Amino acid sequence: MKILFTILLGLTMTACIHSEEADLVVHNARIHSMDEGNTSYQAMAIRDGRIVELGPEQQILNRYGSKKHFDAAGRTIYPGFIDGHCHFLGYGLNEQKLDLQGVKGMGEMMERVEAYAEAHPEKNWIIGRGWDQNLWPMQVYPDNAELDRRFPDRPVLLQRVDGHAALVNDAALREAGLDVHAPIAGGQALMKDGRFTGILLDNAVSVFQRIFDDTDEATKRKALLTAQADCFAVGLTMVCDAGLDVGSIELIRTMQKEGALKMRIYAMVADSPENLAHFEEHGPIEEERLTVRSVKVYADGALGSRGALLKAPYSDQAHHHGLQLASVDHFREVARWCDAHGFQMNTHCIGDSANKLLLGIYGEVLGGPNDKRWRIEHAQVLAPEERPKFAAYSIIPSVQPTHATSDGPWAPDRLGPDRIVYAYAYEELRKAMGMLALGTDFPVEGIDPLQTFRSAVYRVDAKGEPTGGYHPENALSPMDALRGMTIWNAIASFAEHEVGSLEVGKHADFVVLDGDLLKLDQETSGKVRVKATFVNGEQVSD
Ligand SMILES: [Zn+2]
Repeated sequence: MKILFTILLGLTMTACIHSEEADLVVHNARIHSMDEGNTSYQAMAIRDGRIVELGPEQQILNRYGSKKHFDAAGRTIYPGFIDGHCHFLGYGLNEQKLDLQGVKGMGEMMERVEAYAEAHPEKNWIIGRGWDQNLWPMQVYPDNAELDRRFPDRPVLLQRVDGHAALVNDAALREAGLDVHAPIAGGQALMKDGRFTGILLDNAVSVFQRIFDDTDEATKRKALLTAQADCFAVGLTMVCDAGLDVGSIELIRTMQKEGALKMRIYAMVADSPENLAHFEEHGPIEEERLTVRSVKVYADGALGSRGALLKAPYSDQAHHHGLQLASVDHFREVARWCDAHGFQMNTHCIGDSANKLLLGIYGEVLGGPNDKRWRIEHAQVLAPEERPKFAAYSIIPSVQPTHATSDGPWAPDRLGPDRIVYAYAYEELRKAMGMLALGTDFPVEGIDPLQTFRSAVYRVDAKGEPTGGYHPENALSPMDALRGMTIWNAIASFAEHEVGSLEVGKHADFVVLDGDLLKLDQETSGKVRVKATFVNGEQVSD
């Protein structure tokens, strides 16, 4: 009798203790939920990929039976990081190109090109990426004389780090059928004494895009998986890819259905007549891990390659204002199309003139406050008098804090002392709109969201430079930087009911860190590492 009673009691207790079932219980953690008041918890229960309850350690452990437990060992948990603007597929493809990052001049660049050419006889094209003349002793563009001499027949295309400029040889021009002596709308072929230097800017580089778009499926698949692994390792659970064609979007969709691609992707559609016609016919895509309801447009080029469109000439190049990449009519036409078809418009605007132009067109089409969440991507050099337009038309500034710390050493040369004051003015933009979307623009910058945090909050690069921070008056608070990397990015991509904070009913996307970013200083925050990443309650990186 006594034995039976004990067994019965045991059964009742088990049933009582674990009144609910979960797939995963995460406990012994310091969970920053990033909800409205950033409530913190010690534990959470997850079922079917979603959070079912958050609470104190014992409450969750007592209530939920689960096959899997994750003991966080007292570590900090944040919602999975979201990159608000990056080139996810482009990053993966870049990993398969010749890496030219950090080369110190043309001599070293040629050495790398020759070694690569020899190692890859199977490749017709030699495509490299990542050089930056701002890191070279003379800080001037290279020319292609050496490239033509050593590669008379094999096409070579070497993209600058920002992708807005490229050095090409004659064989590449022949293969692409590009005539550098004819005008190129929104682009430029740099000449010296009547001879082509080998440098192409903006739309002249885009001519080669079809060569990249034609990349075979196997290469793209490999690229997407490489990008995914690297992103999970740094705590990213969602990315906004700033410009994909229909074919790449369909491949992502297929790989997600196969289960190979688990990354949540907000894909912006690249602005082309074919892409827009496709989505006009088929409508937006809203799936669990893929959303397509925005168009990525380019208003101008980049500051490093002097393609950014400025009202007054560049301070380091007389009479030069940069490049406008399409006509005003075109921008207006796309804006009306987006408005009519329920798409968000996300326009790359770097220079003060480009920002003014697009904010004006957005305002015309939007008319007033709204919930369409159109974005200005980069919003880099933006005159103070333009700032009120963000709130007036509910436009979201989407910025990349690492651009400020990477460009800091040379941006004052391009802009001069007056304009530099309102460049990379992220805190001012945050105040103007009450929120910001934060990203990296990788592979233009590194993929690490923790560096975004450091660049946003301390305004320093990975080496801790410059001392005291780059224009520290435009630093974001640690809480706002984290919001920008999580919930504000979710809002900027219409996903705030699904991700961006750890709340009941949302997807269990989260990251485990070995330090609490809200409690550390500049020095110690640089040592924080990602210990694990989860998507839908599934551990995807450790
Ligand atoms: Zn970009």
